[in-house]
Amino acid sequence: MINISRTARNTMFYLCTMLISFNLWADNNTDLIINNVISAYGGENLTKAKTLSINEVFKSTMPKQSETPDTLNLRQTTRAVVIDFTAQKAQVTQQLKQREITFSQRNIFKKNIAYHVNLVTKTYRKNSNAGIENIIGHSLLLNDIGLAWLLFENRSSVVKLGETSIENIAYHSLVMIVPSYGELTLTIDKNTYFIIRMTRSHPRLGEIKTDFSQVVSRNNISYAKNTEVFYGTTLNLFVFERDIIIDAILSEDFAVLDDYQQQGLDLTNHEMTVTALSENTYLVGKGHVNSIFYVDGINVIGADIYAGIMTRFLALKKHLNKELVLDKMIITHHHIDHLSGLNELTQTTTKLIAARAHNKEILSNITTEFDLNKLILINDSISLARGKVKIYDIATAHAAHNLVFYIPTEKLLFTADYFHSSIKGEQIIGFPDLINFRKSIEKLNINIEKFAGVHGVRLLSYQQLLDATNNYKPYNLTEIKKI
Ligand SMILES: [Zn+2]
Repeated sequence: MINISRTARNTMFYLCTMLISFNLWADNNTDLIINNVISAYGGENLTKAKTLSINEVFKSTMPKQSETPDTLNLRQTTRAVVIDFTAQKAQVTQQLKQREITFSQRNIFKKNIAYHVNLVTKTYRKNSNAGIENIIGHSLLLNDIGLAWLLFENRSSVVKLGETSIENIAYHSLVMIVPSYGELTLTIDKNTYFIIRMTRSHPRLGEIKTDFSQVVSRNNISYAKNTEVFYGTTLNLFVFERDIIIDAILSEDFAVLDDYQQQGLDLTNHEMTVTALSENTYLVGKGHVNSIFYVDGINVIGADIYAGIMTRFLALKKHLNKELVLDKMIITHHHIDHLSGLNELTQTTTKLIAARAHNKEILSNITTEFDLNKLILINDSISLARGKVKIYDIATAHAAHNLVFYIPTEKLLFTADYFHSSIKGEQIIGFPDLINFRKSIEKLNINIEKFAGVHGVRLLSYQQLLDATNNYKPYNLTEIKKI
C-alpha cells in the first residue's frame, strides 16, 4: 500500500482544486468569447433572425482553366443568397461570368429537396434527400456573420486553442466543428470580437484561409464588406461588393418553382458503357466523362484523356473481345481536367497528340518517366489511319487551341467542352463561345452532320448547332437586386 503523508495529500488536493477551477475558468472564458463574438455581430438580432439575405459580388481565379496556359482568367459571381431559418428554405440566385460563357442559375431548397434551376432554359433538375448546405454551399463560410451564426448553432463543439499571433498582434483562437463543413478555426480580435480569419483544411487543396475586413454596422448587425480566400499562399477569391440584411421581406417568388419545368430524362450512364457510333467508332464512358475511339484493325486512335482513360480503353477491348493496341490518344486541350489521365498513358506505348502550344503545360504535368518521342505536336491538322481520322486545331475563347476529332465517313465531329447534352429532348441554347465554335469549324470546310462530346451521351446534329447559334440573345438576369 502506498502511504501518502498528510502534507502531500493536502498539496495534491490543493493542486486538483486549482486544476478544476482552471478548467472551469477556461470553459467560462471560451463561453465569454463566444458570447462576445455573437454580440459583436448583432446578438439576438442575429441569433433570433428568421431570415438572412446576402447580396455579394466576388471574383475568383480559374487556375489551369484559362484560355491559354500562360494566362489566368477570373470568374465573376454575382449572387443573392436568402436563407429562411424558420421554414428551412433557401434560395441562391447567381450569375457566373467566366471566359466566354455566363451561367444564370437559381438553386432552391425546400422540404429536403434541392432544385437546380437553369434560368436561361427555365428548367430544373431535382435532388431528393438533400441538405440545405447543398444549396447554400459555402456562402456562410464566406461571411464573418455567417460564421458567427454557425458559432451560435454549434457552440457545444467549440474548443479554445488559446492565442494566435498575426503580424505581431495576439488574437483569440477557437475551433468549432460544423456538420457538413468540418473543423473551422476562427481567429478573433481581442478588442472588437470580430472574426478576422477562418481557416480550414481541404483534402485536395490543403489549407484554405479566409480573411475578413472592413466591418460595417447596419440595421442592428455587423459584417465584413471585404473577404479574401487563399489556397495556401495563393489568392483564390475576393469579395468586392456585399450587403447583408436580416429579416428582409422575402419576394413573392422566393423558393417558388412555378415558372420552371422539370428537365427531361437524364441519359447519363452510371456504369461504364460502350456505345457504337458506327462500325469502327465507339463512345466509351460513364458519368460526365467519355472518350471516343476509332478502331483501325488492331490499332485504336482515341480522343480525350480524362482520368480513367485506361479503364475506358479496357472496356472497349472487353466489349469487342479482341486484342487491341491503344496506338494514339489525342489531348483535346490543356485544361487540367482534360490532362487528368496523362500519367496513365506516359509509361505505355501510346503516342500522345497535342497542340504545339500546349507542349510545356503537358510536360509539366507528367510525373513519370516519359519518352519525348511519343509526344506528337501539331500546328493545324493531322490525318491519321490513312485519312480515316482527321484532327484539327480550332480556336475559341474556351481555349485558344482545341483539337477536334473528325471521322469523314461518318461526318462526325468529337469535341471536348462545347456542344454536348445528356438530357433527353433538351433544347440547346446558344452562348457566345458556341458562336465562336461554329465559326471555327465552318472554316475547316468539312462536312459535319453530327457531334459527340466528352461530357454528353447524346449525338447532336449540325442543325441543332445552327438553331442554337442563329438566334442567340444574351440573357439579362434582373432577379439579382440590390437590397
Ligand atoms: Zn476545358
